[in-house]
Order: sequence, then structure tokens, then C-alpha cells
Amino acid sequence: TKSAINKVKEPENTYLQISEKPAWDLLKKWQNISPTFAYYSFRNECGMVACPNTDAFKNYTYKNEWKIEDLIVNATKKSIKAIDLSIDSKFIGNYSSYIDSENIYRKIEQYQKQENAILVGGYGEARPIYTTDAYKIKQNEGYEHRTIHLGVDFWTDINTDIAAIENGIIFSVFNNNNPKDYGPTIILKHEIDDLTFYSLYGHLSKNSLKNKCAGDPVLKGEIIGQLGNSEENGRWGPHLHFQIMLDMLDCKHDFYGVATPSLWPIYSSICPDPNLFFKHDALVDKKQKSLDQLVDFRKKHLGKSLSISYKKPLNIVRGQGQYLIDAFGQKYLDTVNNVAHVGHEHPYILEKGIEQLGVLNTNTRYINEEILNYAKTLLAKFPNELNVVHFVNSGSEANELGLRMARAFTAQKDVVAIEVGYHGNTQGCIDISSYKFDGKGGNGCPENTHIVPLPDAFRGIYTGENTGKDYANHIKIAINNIQEKGRNVSAFIAESIVSCGGQIDLPKDYLSEAYAYVRAAGGLCIADEVQVGFGRVGKSFWAFEMHNVIPDIVTLGKPIGNGHPLAAVVCTRAVADAFANGMEFFNTFGGNPVSCAIGKAVLDTIENEKLQENALIVGNYLKKQLNLLKEKYPIIGDVRGEGLFLGVEFVDKNKNPLPDETNYLVNRMLDFKILMSIDGPDNNVLKIKPPMCFTIENADYLLKTLVIILENEL
Ligand code: PMP
Repeated sequence: TKSAINKVKEPENTYLQISEKPAWDLLKKWQNISPTFAYYSFRNECGMVACPNTDAFKNYTYKNEWKIEDLIVNATKKSIKAIDLSIDSKFIGNYSSYIDSENIYRKIEQYQKQENAILVGGYGEARPIYTTDAYKIKQNEGYEHRTIHLGVDFWTDINTDIAAIENGIIFSVFNNNNPKDYGPTIILKHEIDDLTFYSLYGHLSKNSLKNKCAGDPVLKGEIIGQLGNSEENGRWGPHLHFQIMLDMLDCKHDFYGVATPSLWPIYSSICPDPNLFFKHDALVDKKQKSLDQLVDFRKKHLGKSLSISYKKPLNIVRGQGQYLIDAFGQKYLDTVNNVAHVGHEHPYILEKGIEQLGVLNTNTRYINEEILNYAKTLLAKFPNELNVVHFVNSGSEANELGLRMARAFTAQKDVVAIEVGYHGNTQGCIDISSYKFDGKGGNGCPENTHIVPLPDAFRGIYTGENTGKDYANHIKIAINNIQEKGRNVSAFIAESIVSCGGQIDLPKDYLSEAYAYVRAAGGLCIADEVQVGFGRVGKSFWAFEMHNVIPDIVTLGKPIGNGHPLAAVVCTRAVADAFANGMEFFNTFGGNPVSCAIGKAVLDTIENEKLQENALIVGNYLKKQLNLLKEKYPIIGDVRGEGLFLGVEFVDKNKNPLPDETNYLVNRMLDFKILMSIDGPDNNVLKIKPPMCFTIENADYLLKTLVIILENEL
């Protein structure tokens, strides 16, 4: 209004009309919103029941009796069984199964036959099939999926007679034949005393629509049509979609069948639960527990030192490639999980794991080719010198074993490790992890551990180019200190990109110098590849290879089993022989055939899907773009890392760390459904280490979102 007035008063002054365009844009958006929907939304925001008729409808259904056979005429001949198609449904299983809707239908059909039942369910159910792009809606912040089902589905035989639920008139008869819609659909309008409501019958046969007109009267129990066949019914085979609407909003012959979680309070008020009619036990949702209940139980019964991400915790129930999906079917782009290396719940890994689980799962005391095949494939990824493997179950166990091997080989206990390094949760690993013993609750550095400075060329004790030798010199000093005490170095352990340290790239020549000092003193060099291995750095399969060194011991974990608890220690023959000093090494689960089948499947998938190449291409792209952002936004002090193992450090103009801003950013990224993590001694480094199937498109979404927040909020 103001712009319009200004336009008349001072037509030359364009500044005074600056708000006109966005105002028109907004008005155009508003024009598309049904006025009653806006009214319901305002009521909802005021804490009222969104649709004023909801309570009257509940009252009406409460006072009257219906049976499922009042709707589905032959229902008495069959049992009525609930079917679970929710996000974490084990019936649906892996995402590869719901991407193919035919596949789901075959499963439903088989279950239906086996139980001779009408399968029912769906009201208020968030379903994984609605997590596809077809149901994705752009929001002010990121996007949301319309995942929550507003009707009830009944799977039964083709041509089953369907009856009107109540006296009324035909409101519409229409074939909604867009694949996402209900196919042939009848909507009835009912006026009972002061209450008006509508009932929708979707997925009928085309024949059901014949000779019917809007306005025709219909009696309760009158057959209005039959269930369509598979073709008429579209995906998921013959089933009735039955839904109640207390208001048609502006819809003429169909209605929204799914709602976003944010609009569920409004839509569920307009579309109350059809089971208010039937009051049937099979239609009662028994799964839904509130987030508060879950959090409460966890807090009471799981150890307090387990942390939960985010103030409002996420209830993650499904994984799919580079996404994690919550109980409401909302998809989060995962840039945190480098364990789900080849993608969350990868179908090939699942297949190979199940296959072997069905045949044999026992320990390594028998000859079994599964373990040998895997060992052969894994060792082929290493330089020839590293040719013996021991399988264990976790990165911690791998490092623990690596340390034991070094002790056996050198007969020494002292370990040199890097500041803010983390190597695992066992006592032995904690004792070499300054990230832990120098952190909250830690007891400081143990006698046999010697910490050298974090070789951080951005904010460390030496900065800029060519700091490798300076930092490595501290390893020489540490070894001298050990020797002065009449002892010697057992091992030097390092990650080739220090992850907990804040994704610190080791400077050029650091590792080769360090290894030379350690070896000259008779110690062993351990490369912890738990985070950085398996092609993640893009340039090479192992991160140590970027530094032209060959360790004596390499420890592997996290991505090795794509989430299955598998880990390994790969070492030289000399080290393995020294370790075999008569004491048997037995590990109940390590190297069992199932773990080996999964480990092999991971290696095969990295190769088949060219994931190392993908890490290089997408990682380089992301790093380049982040460096461009660094030029524009001074809060970004440093961009580092390799491949899909990157770090972005946030600092002020004096290079002081900005942990609050970094934390703010990560929480805002969550609003855009991007999961990110923070690390570094000052909690000011954004870590990017997604599943390796992360795409350029994913990188662009991440960058675009970063820009929105950097530009407007930081
Ligand atoms: N080494 C490194 C570098 C790690 O990051 C971790 C785990 N974060 C471990 C070892 C320990 O692995 P796990 O948690 O599987 O025991």
C-alpha cells in the first residue's frame, strides 16, 4: 500500500517503491492459499484445534457404530490385519525395495494371500515411498517432504464392493489419473445435523464412475463402486484409499493425501482419523512413541556420558545413500558419517551380508575361504611390504592391537603421538589420545606417552609453507626425552589428516621425517587410517600414500565394514612374526565369515561405483568453491583436507577461533536438513566427511545453504 501511495506521490523516487516487487511476490503466493486453510492455520498458531468442526465430527462418530464391512462389503469373510509401511518398517526393508513400487506390491500381495486378510493401515503414517523427489516441497528454509498419510488404505481383492459410509450426495466423480493420485475417485458430501463432512474413495475401478453425477443422493451402505484392478489402481496394487475431509478447501475432485510434518496439525484436523468410525484395533497406531518418551528412557537407562547431537534430538530411523531419514520421513543430507562409506544401507552390502549370515558365521579357527578371499583383496590395496592382516571389531581394538604389536617388536612401551589426536576408547588408546586425556574428565598425559605439537600450518606453533621439518623435529626431541629416561620409543602413531585436531593436513615432509627419526631409534610407525582410509582422500586409497611413506602397522576401522563392526591391523611380516611370540591371538568375532563377506562387498563397491574417483572430483570441487567463499567471507580462515575429508575453520580477523559462530552455523544447517559436525581443539572447525556417494548436486546444496547463512546471519 505504501509503495502504491509513493508511486502516485513521487513517481520518480524509485527508492520509495523498493518494497513493491517483493510485496507483489508475496501477494501472489497468498492468493494461492485457500482462505479457509489460512484461517485454520491461524487458529492452529493460536493453539486452537485448526478446523473448528473436528470436535463435532469426533462427537458424531463417538455416538454411532460402524464396522469395516459397512465400507468394504465382503470384509467379514477375511481377517483384518495391520500392515506397517512406516519409515522404519521392516516389512518394507531396504530402500532398494521401495524405490521399486512393484516390488512392494508383490510383498503386500503375498502377505495378503498368506494371511487371507484385508491389510489395513496408514492414517498418520509417514512412509518411505513419500521421501522421493515427487513429494519434495521447497520451503523458506530448505525443503520438506509430504510424507504423512491422511487416509486409511485397505488392501483386498479386485472388484470388491465398496459402500457409502453415510447418507449423502455425490460431490464429485473423477478419474484422477496422474500416477501420484488416487485414480478413479468418488467423493461424497454428508450433512448430518449441523455437521458437514466429505468421504473420499480412491483407487476404484473405472466402471465405478459410470452413470454417476455430482448431486445424486446416496444412502449409507449403498454400493458406490468396486476396487480397481492393478492398472487402474496404479502403484501398490488393488487397495482402497479412504479419507475424511471436514473441508474441501479449494479442491474439486481430489484432496491432498499426504501432508508435511509441519502442516500435519492442520491437515489432521481437516482430515480426522477414519478409524473414528470403525474403532478397529488393527487401525490403531501402536508404534508411535513421542520423542520425549524415547529421550527420557535413553537418559535413564543408557550411560550418561553418551552424547546426543542437537538440542532437539533427531529420531533417525532409516538410512539411504548419503541421507539419514527421521521417523517423519524427513531426509537429512549427511556430511558427518564417514562410516557409511559407500552409502547408508547399501543394497549390495546388505545382500552379501545376508547371504553369508544364512550360511556360516563362526570364528577364525577353521579354514574358510571367505576370510582368505577378503584378506587377499584387502592386502592387494597395500604396498607389498604390508602383507599380513589381523581382523578385529573396532578402530579402538585395531589401535590397541597395533600398540601391542609395537611393544612385542620393540620390547618398549613409550609412544609418541600428536596433540589432540584420538585413537580409540580403550584404556590403551585413551592413554595415547591427548584429545581425551587433555580434555574434560581426562587425567593428563601418562608417563609412557609423549605428545608432539599439532602440525597446524594455519594456527599452530609454526605457520605457513614448509613447516614439515620444524614440526617433525619435535618427534626427535620426544625420542631424546624418552631415551634420557633410559627407555626407548616403541611407536609413533599418527593419522595422515588429523581429524579430531580439526582436519589438519600433515605438512609436506612431516611424515617422512618423523618416520626416519622413529626408525633410527628402533621404533615402529603406525598409520591410523580409521577415518581417512579406503579412498576417502581421493588422491590415493590410503592417506599415508600422499606422504610417500610406508608404515610398519596400519590400523583400519570405521568405513571398512560400512557400519558393520569390523576393523583390521595390517602390518609387515617382521612385525607379525615378532607378535607371534607364543601367546595365541584369539578374537571371537574378528574375521568371522559374515564380517569378511561385508568387508569384501565394501571393497568391491568402492571399485564398482568408482567412489575414490568420486571423492576426488566432488572433494576438489567442494574445496575449490569453499576457497572462493573464503575470499568473500573473512570468517572462513582456512579450508583444508583432501577428497571428501575436508575442514573449514572459522576465525575472527586476528585468527581467534569462533566456536559460537561455528556452533550456530551447524545448528542452522540442520534447519536446512544438512547434518554437519565440529571438531578441533577450539571447536571451530566444520568437518565435511560424507558417505562417498556424495554428489556435486549435494555439494551445491551445501554451498548454497552456507552462503545463505554467511550472507545474512554471520
Ligand atoms: N582412530 C581414529 C582416528 C578414530 O577417529 C576413531 C573413532 N572416532 C578410532 C580410532 C576408534 O574407533 P572405534 O570407535 O571404532 O573404536
